[in-house]
Amino acid sequence: MPINGKRAYELLDRIGFIRTSGSDQEKEASQILMDEIQSLGIEAIREPFEVEDAIVHRAILKVCEPYEKSYEVTAWKCCPNAKLEGELYYAQDALTPVDLANMKGKIVLVNNFLRLPTYKKMLESGAIAFITYQGSLLDKREDSDLDTRKLRANFRKYGNLPGVNMLVEDAFELVVKKAHKVYLEIEQENVTLTSHNVYATIPGTEDPKTIITLGAHYDSVPFSTGVYDNGAGSVIIMEILREFVAHPPRRTVKFCWFGSEEVGLEGSKAYIAKHPEEVAKTRLMINVDVAGAPLGKDVAMITGPESLVSYIEYLACAENFSLHARQDIYSSDSTPFANAGVPAVSFCRFGTQGAAFIHCRHDVIQYLSADSLEATAAFVNTFASEIVNTAVFPVERTMPDNMVKKVHEYLDIKDEK
Ligand SMILES: [Zn+2]
Repeated sequence: MPINGKRAYELLDRIGFIRTSGSDQEKEASQILMDEIQSLGIEAIREPFEVEDAIVHRAILKVCEPYEKSYEVTAWKCCPNAKLEGELYYAQDALTPVDLANMKGKIVLVNNFLRLPTYKKMLESGAIAFITYQGSLLDKREDSDLDTRKLRANFRKYGNLPGVNMLVEDAFELVVKKAHKVYLEIEQENVTLTSHNVYATIPGTEDPKTIITLGAHYDSVPFSTGVYDNGAGSVIIMEILREFVAHPPRRTVKFCWFGSEEVGLEGSKAYIAKHPEEVAKTRLMINVDVAGAPLGKDVAMITGPESLVSYIEYLACAENFSLHARQDIYSSDSTPFANAGVPAVSFCRFGTQGAAFIHCRHDVIQYLSADSLEATAAFVNTFASEIVNTAVFPVERTMPDNMVKKVHEYLDIKDEK
């Protein structure tokens, strides 16, 4: 077997440290990937791009009435500075008429992850600040890391609200103890960091002008060594690169390791913006994001024509590889490519709940295995090798309307009617 899970696992171990968007550690990981590429006799290119970030000096949330208590919070990065006191309102849905009517002038506690529609509704309803929470009531406090979230530019263009994030047990207490009046303070300064994409090219032997891109993001979130998400995808495409070095493909294959995926797909967006001519010649994007969990299942999300779903389903049967394929978008670097009109496939091995963890301190290499990496890598390699070497390229460079709609919704792009 030319794809070697053990070798992939070893490389994964070497990049298995926290490597957040724009950090020195992210750059260090990019260097390890470059060294690996260059050891194969292939040129590796590292391309910088800018990302927004903030240095938070202060984030305070205090309940003043009917009891007094300060809670541990993090500021939403890039939100405005604030010093304000106000009434707390728990908007359990934030989209119901009752919640909408009650948010005016309030500091609003919302459930779970803050989605753009909720944020827009808070702005329209006159909320003055917001509080999000994370985690499970079953988590022990000492095992919980409080995430730093970022108010991204696509949120801020609708208006700028100060926000903080807290642990679920504290949010629970706010509601149970009927916290009424709260004080919120945020002081931070916005900064620009430099993140990097790494890429390598294997020119096609017969049709070099047609390009197929293989991608994986190599950055992690804070508190996470990001091996499952997504050091695994990074080492899987490295294995496939080795295969293409050994067996030069008919068409050109680009290998991209994207930085800053975790803060809003910034690496792939920057890559597409920087290489428009190349993207125009790209017929397919193959993305790998999360893999290596021994307990789990392999899934392929196809943002492209239905025929590609069938193609991958048939191939899985032919290879005796258990895989569920479906037409959908995926929250990863495949989506900006799909938005540029490139049919995209994301391969993911979703770990079973409780057996693999993302975006937390439990995303560690002990929960992954070389065999699992190898199995996913082998199938993605079979698919990539087959399609890159077809006599006639079978995938049309078109994006069905239902996928255009989903991509636009996801990226908050207005459909022009
Ligand atoms: Zn990921």
